[in-house]
Amino acid sequence: PTTANRIAAGEVVERPAAVVKELVENALDAGARHIRVALEEGGIGRVLVEDDGQGIPEAELALAVERHATSKLPEEAMLFAIGTLGFRGEALPSIGAVARLSVTSRVPGGEAHVVTVEGGRKSAVRPASGAPGTRVEVLDLFFATPARRKFLRTPRAEADAALDALRRLALAWPEVGFEATLDGRAVLNLAPAKRETRLRDLLGTDFAAASLPVEGGGADSLVIAGLAGGPAFTKATATDQHFVVNRRPVRDPLLRTALRVAYREVMTPGRHPVAALFLELPPDEVDVNVHPMKTELRFRDGNMVRGAVISALRRALGQGIG
Ligand code: ADP
Ligand code: MG
Repeated sequence: PTTANRIAAGEVVERPAAVVKELVENALDAGARHIRVALEEGGIGRVLVEDDGQGIPEAELALAVERHATSKLPEEAMLFAIGTLGFRGEALPSIGAVARLSVTSRVPGGEAHVVTVEGGRKSAVRPASGAPGTRVEVLDLFFATPARRKFLRTPRAEADAALDALRRLALAWPEVGFEATLDGRAVLNLAPAKRETRLRDLLGTDFAAASLPVEGGGADSLVIAGLAGGPAFTKATATDQHFVVNRRPVRDPLLRTALRVAYREVMTPGRHPVAALFLELPPDEVDVNVHPMKTELRFRDGNMVRGAVISALRRALGQGIG
């Protein structure tokens, strides 16, 4: 692997949170019902993600860690209509370029196999032992690129960011169970649940009690659901604003603005609403290909989405369609 390759990979996988996000998305794409995450030293020393999904057949294991070897993208034209979370085939090779990666997998009825990549050097596929599903271990992030390692923050800060990424995915996938440990200590334990239960578990019972159901839609194709904190239930920061679009947790300026506008007349300036909004719309109405590994997206009809979100929130807040 060339230095340029490693630098490019470091731009794709910039910190442990990105590793966690990519590996958990892969587990979700594989239909996992239960996902276990173990972090050590904020994920810099170790990220382990185990799932009970469909597994990777032995014959595809070597390919899975190669660049652009996604099994999820039938055609280029599909880039605007993506049903899976991953589609670039960049995560595993990028992680393998900058860390010590091992992928152990077993399909139902098959035997387990393992492949490792260390600083871009791939091993042969060997027999292993393991339960059905996939176990991905990432050790010593950026050991191969010490310059990048210097940009990491403290293990504490990296752990917070990694757990935040995990919680956002857990919020979007309530029917999947999630467990996480940090340096061996349990930090998250979420049984498969309904959306309301998952929101209460993640955002707190206070929020659940003080929140209003949001329901709405637009242009026949958009469905909006979720919970919005009442005007009295606000926070000093905007961290508890969750947006999920077609099962993807996103940070989207358009949706954040819509939330702020909807609450403008009912809350104290300087405070921030708390809300978890779930949007479903036809995949070809959203472009998720804005930035690799980022949680950004672009709506084909942003004005329609903004208007529909504002009126759904205003209805929930009892203001009519302002
Ligand atoms: P992408 O998710 O964009 O396809 P990745 O590099 O993340 O690319 O993964 C490459 C391929 O490896 C995937 O397309 C999938 O076939 C396989 N894969 C990775 N992780 C898992 C997993 N946990 N379970 C099943 N298959 C997986
Ligand atoms: Mg992926």
